[in-house]
Amino acid sequence: MSTVTIAPIAESLPAFLDSYDFSAIAVIADNHTFRYCYPELKTILPKHTLVRIKAGEEQKHIATCELIWDALTRANFDRHALVLNLGGGVIGDMGGFCAATYKRGIAFAQIPTTLLAQVDASVGGKLGIDFRGYKNHIGVFQLPNTVLIDPVFLTTLPERELRSGFAEIIKHCLIADATMWDEIRRRDLDEQDWSTLVAHSVAVKQRVVAEDPTEKGLRKILNFGHTLGHAVETYFLTQPRKRLLHGEAIAVGMVAEAFMAFQKKMIDQDLLTQIEEYIFAVYGNVRLTDEDVEPVLALTLQDKKNRGKEVRMSLLDGPGSCAFDVHVTAAEMRRGLEFYRG
Ligand code: NAD
Ligand code: MG
Repeated sequence: MSTVTIAPIAESLPAFLDSYDFSAIAVIADNHTFRYCYPELKTILPKHTLVRIKAGEEQKHIATCELIWDALTRANFDRHALVLNLGGGVIGDMGGFCAATYKRGIAFAQIPTTLLAQVDASVGGKLGIDFRGYKNHIGVFQLPNTVLIDPVFLTTLPERELRSGFAEIIKHCLIADATMWDEIRRRDLDEQDWSTLVAHSVAVKQRVVAEDPTEKGLRKILNFGHTLGHAVETYFLTQPRKRLLHGEAIAVGMVAEAFMAFQKKMIDQDLLTQIEEYIFAVYGNVRLTDEDVEPVLALTLQDKKNRGKEVRMSLLDGPGSCAFDVHVTAAEMRRGLEFYRG
């Protein structure tokens, strides 16, 4: 497991650098993290190469990797160099992938700056890029040398991005910690204590990943909300006016999949109502209509986690508890989506 440090970056980064002897350092940032987060690093870092790329998921492809590999090559980076990925999940996944493949792999550290990246993407060692429209189609498993989380970066994050990342916190509570679920649902988004929640989510994810690093079993519980959620996310990409952020789609998926668990008698009415009410309170603006259900359903059948035509899902089986590889039918998924819509 990589170490994860939650502390001011001015403390954690120098301490990390002191414990190694890197031959060179590159910082990879996007336009936003260059503006909002890089100033914090610039003053504390020794000589380094800055690689600045445009922001957004559209940049997460092979041509951007070439820019990064080019910059490392031009600066004569050898195998003892370090890459610092300063940004959200896009920078983390892509910068990590570039580091893990440059000269067969050099050191890299994740400095996640979005809530989603702090509680999810930076932990667990999944790296990669999109390819021909398929998300995370090309990639590797490789743990970073360290993850340095500074909650202060969240202060410049747009509220919609914060809300999106919060969905993964909700997920971590629902699948692993009933007490924390009771705790968060008493508060609105603006009343949450991010340092505590980030630390909690990281601990949940680390624990699960440590038991099953390559997703053969238990790690699948992290996909709760994601079978239907991913399909919703992909479907909305074709609806330009209604584009959803990842966490907004996962919020829909969690409600729909909670209903499926309820129908299968895996959770009781109480928990279903809690999930429905809280998610609607936080994400109430996300709507599904009648005509959305069938195309979303069709997309779930193409999920890369399926085996053949069978759909297996991670479904809650109690507060703070989740089962994986549960067989589900198209009819059950349809009822889940209809429950959300209704
Ligand atoms: P992102 O990296 O695109 O960041 C979202 C937006 O916030 C961008 O515009 C970015 O420039 C901006 N931003 C970042 N930090 C900021 C800050 N501190 N202040 C102001 N603006 C800031 O997206 P994301 O939501 O962080 O991550 C999504 C990506 O993560 C997807 O590509 C997804 O596939 C990946 N992901 C990976 C894993 C994994 O296990 N590796 C898990 C979940 C998601
Ligand atoms: Mg997710």
